[in-house]
Amino acid sequence: MVTAKARAVNGSKESFQATEITRRELDTNDVLIEIKFAGICHSDIHTAHGDWGEVNYPLVPGHEIAGIVTDVGEKVTKYKVGDRVGVGCMVDSCGDCKNCREGEEQYCLKGNVPTYAGVDKYGEPTQGGYSTHIVVVEDFVLSIPENIGLDEAAPLLCAGITTFSPLNHWNAGPGKKVAVVGLGGLGHMAVKIAHAMGADVTVLSQTLNKKEDGLQFGASSYYATSDPDTFTELAGTFDLIINTVSAKIDMNAYLSLLTLNGTLVNVGAPAEPLEINAFSLIPHRRSFAGSMIGGIRETQEMLNFCAEHKIAPSIEVISADEIDRAYERVMASDVKYRFVIDISTM
Ligand code: NAP
Ligand code: ZN
Repeated sequence: MVTAKARAVNGSKESFQATEITRRELDTNDVLIEIKFAGICHSDIHTAHGDWGEVNYPLVPGHEIAGIVTDVGEKVTKYKVGDRVGVGCMVDSCGDCKNCREGEEQYCLKGNVPTYAGVDKYGEPTQGGYSTHIVVVEDFVLSIPENIGLDEAAPLLCAGITTFSPLNHWNAGPGKKVAVVGLGGLGHMAVKIAHAMGADVTVLSQTLNKKEDGLQFGASSYYATSDPDTFTELAGTFDLIINTVSAKIDMNAYLSLLTLNGTLVNVGAPAEPLEINAFSLIPHRRSFAGSMIGGIRETQEMLNFCAEHKIAPSIEVISADEIDRAYERVMASDVKYRFVIDISTM
C-alpha cells in the first residue's frame, strides 16, 4: 500500500485541507503513478460543491492527471517504470458490454468507474489526482507523447478529450463552420482542436474581453453573447456548436444559430435542466446532442493529434495551497485557461 499526500474537501462549503490517503497494493495489471500535475476542471467544482447531488466526503477531486510510472504489476505489458503517463475521468469499466467492446468505455452499460467520487471493483471509494500517487489498471492509463510537457498534458485528459470527441464524431473539418460557446478550460481547447481539424471557428463568449486570445487560439471570429445583435447577425450560420458553459443558458437562442441539419452538442453540465422549445429544432431539422469525455482509444488518438499539431492548453500552474482561490476564479469565469496544480507543492 502506498500512502499519498492529498488535498481534500470535507463538505460542500469547506475549503481544501492537506491530508493523506492510501492507494491499493498493485494488482497484476495495475500501474503506480507518481503524479506531477493535476488540472482543475469545472466538474471538480460541481462535484466538490455537491451541485450534481450528494457525494461522500472527504473528497479528493482531480481527473486531469499527468505523471511518471514508478511501479508496475507483474502482468503489465503496456507500461514500464519511468514512462510518462496520464489518467483522465475514468479508471475502470466492465470491459465486456457492447459499448466497452466498441472502445466507448465512458458509456459502459454498467457504468464506468469515475476517477474520484466513484466506487472501484474492490468496493473502495475512488479518490482523484489532487494527490501525489494513484494506482490505475493499465488499460485506463494513457501514454503522453514526448513533445507535450506533463503540465500541459494534464488538461488534455479531460478538457482535451471532451472537446476532441464531439468535434471528431460530428466531423469538424474543412468547410465546416463551428462555434464554441464559452472560452474557459474546455472552450479554449475546442477552439484549438477545431482549428487544427481545419474547421472555421467562431467563439461565442459573454464579452469581448478575451477576443485577442480567442483569435490567437485559432478562431476566425469572436462575438459577445451579451450583445443581442450577435444572435441576429449569426442566425442560421453554424454546422456545429459546442456548448461548454457550466451554467444554464438559453439553448433556444443558440439553436437558432444552426444551419439546416446543424447540431448543437452540449458538453457543459449545469445542474439545472436546459429548456428547449420544439420550434427551436423542427424548422431547420436541427439536432440537440450531448457528449461525455471520450473512450480510451480516442483519448490516445487525441493526445497523438495534439502532439502532431503542436496543440497544448494555455495553463496557469498553481501550488496546492492555491486551489480554493483557483476555484473562486474559475467560478467567476476568470481562468486563462486552465489551472494546473504542481503536485510537488503538496
Ligand atoms: P470553465 O473553465 O469554467 O469554462 C466555462 C466557461 O463558460 C467560462 O469560462 C465562461 O466563458 C462561460 N460561462 C460561465 N458562466 C457562464 C454564464 N452564467 N453564462 C454564460 N457563459 C458562462 O469550465 P470547464 O472546466 O471548461 O467546464 C465547462 C462545463 O463542462 C462544466 O459544466 C463541466 O462540468 C462540464 N464538463 C463536461 C464534461 C463532459 O464530459 N461532458 C467534461 C468536463 C467538463 P466566457 O467567459 O468565455 O463566457
Ligand atoms: Zn473534467
